[in-house]
Amino acid sequence: MKIDLMPHKAGFVSIIGKPNVGKSTLMNQLVGARISIITSKAQTTRHRIMGILSGDDFQIVYSDTPGMIKPAYKLQSNMMKFVNSSIEDADIVLLVSDLYDEYDEENVKKLSKISQPLILIINKIDLDKGGQTDSKIEYWKSILAKDPIAIIPVSALLGTGIDHVFNSILQNLPEHPPYFPKETLTDKPERFFVSEIIREKIFTNYKKEVPYSTEVVVTEFYEEEKIIRIRAEIFVERRSQKGIIIGKGGLALKKVGIEARKDLETFFGKQVHLETFVKIADDWRKKSQSLKGFGYSS
Ligand code: GDP
Ligand code: MG
Repeated sequence: MKIDLMPHKAGFVSIIGKPNVGKSTLMNQLVGARISIITSKAQTTRHRIMGILSGDDFQIVYSDTPGMIKPAYKLQSNMMKFVNSSIEDADIVLLVSDLYDEYDEENVKKLSKISQPLILIINKIDLDKGGQTDSKIEYWKSILAKDPIAIIPVSALLGTGIDHVFNSILQNLPEHPPYFPKETLTDKPERFFVSEIIREKIFTNYKKEVPYSTEVVVTEFYEEEKIIRIRAEIFVERRSQKGIIIGKGGLALKKVGIEARKDLETFFGKQVHLETFVKIADDWRKKSQSLKGFGYSS
């Protein structure tokens, strides 16, 4: 008989911060160092990238948004949009900062509205030429209205301080049963992630009805030393939808492919070759049912 001494902990952790401070690198470290899976919220309006880290008595659901992967042209407003939309259901917020970023008054005011426990990460300490990390910590102490529950200097790139972040999260995670099944999601996470990224691009590039009739199946995923070769099939229900997806001269599909590839390259940290094919299959829903059996879907 198994006696549970530790209550199970589970929760959502939102990773926020300005572009380029190292959010994605940090999330990969937090998730990738252990047995992990990558998935995305199944809801359609906002496809947030999640990295789930499960243990016997805990499950941490990290979220980062693929939209933030792109260098933002309106940095501050973009960050704030992200802050506003991403932390709603978070149990803990990881605010990632590096040695260089600065926040204006308006940004600070928005940050002060975050009601969840906040962990402040000072990233890129490997680039510290002397005292920069300390003065950054002082800077944050002077501008934040509410004290973060922890201030942790890290190098997401080198993996320094990651355990400290993990422990701090675990300590502050609420008691809760797991949100996602622990076993079924561990198989082939990359494929599921790829199909979700492509699906997201379909949702952002076409009008409402078409994306809902679309399913993406990743039929090949070959990782070589310098490049990942991916083949994906986009299933639609009708011929007219196929035409819409492909677009005039193939331009619409090309745009989807380019946007998806960029996000995938940032995520995997590797060059990606992505081939997409559009197919008509009125029974794709059945296929997508069967996919669940392989653990490609949640
Ligand atoms: P994001 O836009 O916040 O998601 O930032 P990314 O994770 O994409 O990282 C932006 C850039 O900063 C990339 O070139 C990373 O390699 C680099 N970077 C991230 N973390 C570190 C770090 O700890 N040290 C150094 N030197 N570079 C880092
Ligand atoms: Mg990113």
